[in-house]
Amino acid sequence: MANIEEMMGRFFLFGKMYSVELREKSFDNWPFREDCNCTPEMMAKAGFVHCPSENEPDVVSCFFCLIELEGWEPADDPWFEHTKRSPSCEFLLMGKDFSDLTVAEFYRLELARVKIYVRKLIHRKMECLRDAIDVTLKDINSQQNSI
Ligand SMILES: [Zn+2]
Repeated sequence: MANIEEMMGRFFLFGKMYSVELREKSFDNWPFREDCNCTPEMMAKAGFVHCPSENEPDVVSCFFCLIELEGWEPADDPWFEHTKRSPSCEFLLMGKDFSDLTVAEFYRLELARVKIYVRKLIHRKMECLRDAIDVTLKDINSQQNSI
């Protein structure tokens, strides 16, 4: 799962990822290339960007809904997996190629993408705040017990 700094970096990068060609380029080091369902081309068409880390080499994220998936197998169908785990993703529901969108449709989508990003970022920051509160409460309790 991406940390807050990774999420912030991805937000600006993913703004360019309406382009299927740019998404496909992110899969340069992708292990599944031939004779399988999850080739770079199919991953990119399903909206995914390859976001590998040292511990998670096959993590992908949808540029739009930001869902992260890993543990890919050659038989996995990226569009099916995306639909199964994020059925309300507006990229999946777009129903037309990006180049066929009107300017108004593009801005409506971009507004929805920004809302998703802000909601997830706030959620992640709240998790960090809760963790910090828990650590502080444990410290206070241990100090009280030692008095
Ligand atoms: Zn999505």
